[in-house]
Amino acid sequence: MRREDFPILNEKVHGRELVYLDNAATTQKPQVVLDAIVEGYSKWNANVHRGVHHLSQVATEKHEQARKKVAEWLNAVAEEVIFTKGTTDSINMLARSFGDAMVNEGDEIIVSQLEHHSNIVPWQMLCERKKAVLKVIPLREDLSIDIEAYKGMLNERTRLVSVAQVSNVLGIINPVEEIIRYAHAKHIPVCVDGAQSVPHLAVDVKKMDCDFLVMSAHKMYGPTGLGVLYGKKEWLDQLPPAEGGGEMIEHVRWDKTTYNVLPYKFEAGTPNYIGSYAFSKAIEYVQEQGIDDIARHEEELVEYIEERLSGLKHVKIYAAGQKKAGAVSFNVYRVDGGLIHPFDVGVLLDRQGVAVRTGHHCAEPLIEHLGVPGTLRASVGLYNTKEDIDKLIAALERAIMMLE
Ligand code: PMP
Repeated sequence: MRREDFPILNEKVHGRELVYLDNAATTQKPQVVLDAIVEGYSKWNANVHRGVHHLSQVATEKHEQARKKVAEWLNAVAEEVIFTKGTTDSINMLARSFGDAMVNEGDEIIVSQLEHHSNIVPWQMLCERKKAVLKVIPLREDLSIDIEAYKGMLNERTRLVSVAQVSNVLGIINPVEEIIRYAHAKHIPVCVDGAQSVPHLAVDVKKMDCDFLVMSAHKMYGPTGLGVLYGKKEWLDQLPPAEGGGEMIEHVRWDKTTYNVLPYKFEAGTPNYIGSYAFSKAIEYVQEQGIDDIARHEEELVEYIEERLSGLKHVKIYAAGQKKAGAVSFNVYRVDGGLIHPFDVGVLLDRQGVAVRTGHHCAEPLIEHLGVPGTLRASVGLYNTKEDIDKLIAALERAIMMLE
């Protein structure tokens, strides 16, 4: 994989070579994406859709081509691809739109114990608004989703299931196809949080048969401030817009406003057209590398992290040995069995140029379930190497020596 395409990886941190292992939080950007942002603002910046002038038409064309690129990437059609600000925004939009139209008092929404806060809090807020009930799929001993318990939770009051395809804390790949199959057998739609899966695995919304899928561009080598809400056309046609404003209307009259066609009905205001263009370049970049090759490379790295970590004394790996994509969570213990706070370890790794994430990773209910104040998480991207992992382990050994 082409490390040299990512200029930031040449930066020094505290005088050390940067070892960037915080890709689950955000990925670095290849030169083609950086160039696309500069190109957009310096060559064809103009507001999209409304202008007859040349620049506006060029910007519109680039933005709509980007939508087609996302659709191709996910195996959707362009009108099913709604651009948002990110995964969080996508879920909030869905909770408002779907929630307003489909959820009533006493209805149930199902999420799992290992969700990111952004796949919990919008549903909690909806449940509060509608006096509905948020149900939580428990985890088995090995931290995988308890499918048997889940099956028993689906009933005639269930309105929606929303689960992550890949856990941002544990890296575990959840059996979303199975989750969808059981929900669909009872005509219940499913939203898949693809924030941690789309950058690491080939995701095909048709094959998966999810009703909605959400993701963030910045986690797949694209710009921040851009995300996607994919929805099956049958759903998007019948759901109301989540936000009002320009772009999303057909006509505005004092007595009644009519809405635009898909996907614009869900895109109020000026969209992030430079971001969408830059993201299309990120997708092209990933396509050139090949998502299957990326997946294989990252799987090897994740296995290597686990192998090297398990060679260290007093390190606990969470969900060790399970099939993962991108991330490994672990903690370090003193000889006397006491937990060394992950922040302390993280700070010492940082001083050695190694960037990992520490804390609750925006998944407090899962961290509480693990019974620790947080974890250390090493997460990889296509540019990481075994050498990076060796540097992580060497830095960790030094940190442990200092803290024990
Ligand atoms: N869901 C998951 C599984 C995530 O990992 C993240 C980001 N850590 C989010 C949702 C939220 O994404 P964003 O902050 O880009 O909206």
